Amino acid sequence: MEEQNKISRRKVIGGIGAGLAAAAVSPAFGATDVHTFGNWTAVKLEDPVTKYPKPPFKVQFQPWPGLAGKMEPIPDHGEKSYKGSGRLMGRKALITGGDSGMGRAAAIAYAREGADVAINYLPHEEPDAQEVVALIKAEGRKAIAIPGDLREESFCTRLVDDAVRGLGGLDILVSNAARQQAHDSILDITTEQFDWTIKTNIYAPFWLIKAALPHLKPGAVIIGTTSVQATDPSPELYDYAQTKAATTSFVRSLAKQLGPKGIRVNGVAPGPIWTPLQVSGGAKPDKLEKFGADTPYGRPGQPAELGSIYVQLAANDASYSTGQVYGAAGGSGQP
Ligand code: NAD
Ligand code: MG
Repeated sequence: MEEQNKISRRKVIGGIGAGLAAAAVSPAFGATDVHTFGNWTAVKLEDPVTKYPKPPFKVQFQPWPGLAGKMEPIPDHGEKSYKGSGRLMGRKALITGGDSGMGRAAAIAYAREGADVAINYLPHEEPDAQEVVALIKAEGRKAIAIPGDLREESFCTRLVDDAVRGLGGLDILVSNAARQQAHDSILDITTEQFDWTIKTNIYAPFWLIKAALPHLKPGAVIIGTTSVQATDPSPELYDYAQTKAATTSFVRSLAKQLGPKGIRVNGVAPGPIWTPLQVSGGAKPDKLEKFGADTPYGRPGQPAELGSIYVQLAANDASYSTGQVYGAAGGSGQP
């Protein structure tokens, strides 16, 4: 896989050319299951329905914010599967919540596409974060780990400053960290809990983007992780769902504001994805056992299934996409 990651563009184009030539003369082409194109082997079809674990899942609980490494089954963030092709070569990216879940999948994919990556996470998540740092470094890219709590404006400002200093600039900001706690009734949500969710999910992106903007040049991108909850909120996610509607809204507003400056702003809207957020209070135990069962695939998504979306939204060739929200929900819900 490493070898494939390092294949140059020239070799890729040359390889495809040679493969097409071989296909034209080879009577065996198409007659067997093995299709080769020069040095490349055809990618096998994968059935998305059976690709990953299905419910019932073991009911499990971890104290918030939870660790991916302690989940059963352990989520797939693309550690063994994501293959890069130089799409983000030389980019400098900051990803909040980069230790686990969607943030980790984006970090792995970005590094394999040639980007240097800074990740933010909470101090408790150091074991998950260190795995991500090792994966980024294994690609020969710079990895910068900056733990800290995004509910403080002063930390958000310092985080961006440290990332810019460590990376030597900033081209991609992925505002992905979030707080989600399920409560059956609005009466169970204390003002402190409500404030915690709003601070993490609405204030932190505001502070981060304000700090990052002076560093972003035309071609730079901001990506927010929103949710299907923005448009189809669950009864037990009264506070969280509001913040995801706010995320979708800031994506659309800022895209208009920053479009003339050449800075793109897009969102990713996952459906039910197997991440620590869900096993540390994000989903009620009965929902966790059946997690993802109500989607057309009958299973939750894995973070690995979203890594390429964060790449696509960050890459130069998505230049006409801004103010968009890209969904990944197994056929359920709309972005
Ligand atoms: P996750 O637990 O892997 O990631 C969330 C991260 O947020 C944590 O790793 C943590 O580092 C970070 N975080 C939370 N509070 C923080 C704080 N105060 N300071 C610093 N960091 C903090 O879970 P995930 O599901 O990958 O979540 C990533 C994003 O995906 C979130 O925006 C979430 O709302 C969104 N999302 C998740 C799902 C799902 O089903 N898992 C569905 C839709 C949207
Ligand atoms: Mg985490």
